[in-house]
Amino acid sequence: MTASAGRRKTVLITGAAGFIGSHLCDRFLAEGWKVIGMDNLITGSMDNIAHHMGNDCFRFIKYNVTNYIHVEGRVDLILHFACPASPVDYLNFPIQTLKVDSVGTMHTLGMAKEKGARYVFASTSEVYGDPEVHPQPETYWGNVNSVGVRSVYDEAKRFSEAMTMAYHRTHGVDVRIVRIFNTYGPRMRLNDGRIIPNFAYQALQGEPVTVYGDGSQTRSFCYISDLVEGIYRTAMQDGLNGEIFNLGNTDEYAVEDFARLIIGFLGSKSELVHKELPEDDPKRRCPDITKAETVLGWRPVVSIYEGLRQTIDFFRHTIKKNGGTKEN
Ligand code: UDP
Repeated sequence: MTASAGRRKTVLITGAAGFIGSHLCDRFLAEGWKVIGMDNLITGSMDNIAHHMGNDCFRFIKYNVTNYIHVEGRVDLILHFACPASPVDYLNFPIQTLKVDSVGTMHTLGMAKEKGARYVFASTSEVYGDPEVHPQPETYWGNVNSVGVRSVYDEAKRFSEAMTMAYHRTHGVDVRIVRIFNTYGPRMRLNDGRIIPNFAYQALQGEPVTVYGDGSQTRSFCYISDLVEGIYRTAMQDGLNGEIFNLGNTDEYAVEDFARLIIGFLGSKSELVHKELPEDDPKRRCPDITKAETVLGWRPVVSIYEGLRQTIDFFRHTIKKNGGTKEN
């Protein structure tokens, strides 16, 4: 699939004003696409896409995709990325989370069928739940608590994967699923409750850094430009109909070690403080990206130090803009 030959192709990006969605808008516009961005702005922000306003190739529609969606004209590609994604956000918006990744997925898939568009669904490492297989390959079925607090996210994503595959098998829609592992970078909300915004803010302010539980649980962190490259390749490469890819960084850190890394990186005097571990917090998480490496020729290239430098520059700017607070 290419946008440069002949007519500009059009991509619909749901969650366009969010962290990942807005970076996808940047990438597809830079590649010569027309972008229709959709977002209901419950967790996204117009600040993330303000730089595209006035661009003839970009159109923003404030809309909730859990309502029926219709867009005039051709659409070649749909990226369904709308969904609260931090644990704090999806616990604040449990019903909206369930709806956007059930009804919203149904509507966007219906549109892909109607338009003959390719479809990429933004899934998550959370489909693996608290994994008993480590690292997690795409073939692992997961270990998920279907009635726990996190189920509003995990099960909605699992349902969406099932629906995506059903549209592929039943209607022949050209679908791909990306399972996104922890990702960070500029445009993350400082107050989204996730580990990197929390630790960076606390370390910058000299406040205690809040390690949940004993801090032995692990995560791996992928920089946003690496993730966008993986998504772009997944969307563009022909012959991937019905394929699923883990996208994430394979450098795994225990949470407590990561707290020390950020404190050291910033030369901060912050101490560590332990707080209660959130319910059903996965103990280990690290992607097996062999499939993405082999099929897409993709692997992350940005080091944690370079990624943190860019991200923390952004956070510093946000803190300044907000008069010293993390509320944006
Ligand atoms: N975490 C932490 N302190 C914080 C925020 C998060 O120790 O202030 C831990 C959290 O318990 C989890 C990991 O960091 O084990 C990643 O949490 P995050 O909310 O970023 O995303 P998750 O990977 O759980 O979806």
